[in-house]
Amino acid sequence: MNCRTCGTGDRVEIAAKTIGRGAGGNTRCYRLECGHAWHVVMPTIDARSRPEGAEPAPCSCGEIATVNTLLAEGRRHEALGEDLTEDAFGRWLEQVLQALDGIPAESGAPSLVRSAATAAKSPTSSLSKKITDLNKLLGRAIKAVS
Ligand SMILES: [Zn+2]
Ligand SMILES: [Zn+2]
Repeated sequence: MNCRTCGTGDRVEIAAKTIGRGAGGNTRCYRLECGHAWHVVMPTIDARSRPEGAEPAPCSCGEIATVNTLLAEGRRHEALGEDLTEDAFGRWLEQVLQALDGIPAESGAPSLVRSAATAAKSPTSSLSKKITDLNKLLGRAIKAVS
C-alpha cells in the first residue's frame, strides 16, 4: 500500500493484523517496511455497508508504536548512510536494544537483542551496514508481535 507519510510509491508490508471488527468491516493494521503503520477498514462482502471514502488512519497500536518509531528513524539513518554521526547512531542503538529486549525471536533463532548487539559491534561492518542489519531486526520484531 501507499504510505501517507512517505508519499508515492508502494511500501511492502512487514506484517498485517486485524485489530477490530465492526459493522462496516474489519480494521486491519498494516505495518510497512518504512516504519509507518496504517489502519485500514476492509469492507465486508456486503458492499452496501462500505463506508464511503474511508481513509487510512495512523496506527495507534501500543505494542508496536516504539519499534515502529525506531524503524522509521532507522530508515532516515539509512538514507544518511555514512553521514550519520556516531553519536546519533549510539543514541538510536541504545533505544533499539531496549525495545528489542524481551521480544521473542523466531523459534530456534538467537534472541533479537543479542543479534542486534552483535550486529552493532561488528568490526567489519560499515555504519550503513550496521543500520541496515538493525532495521532488519526491527522488522522481525514487528512481525513477532503482530
Ligand atoms: Zn512510510
Ligand atoms: Zn496499528
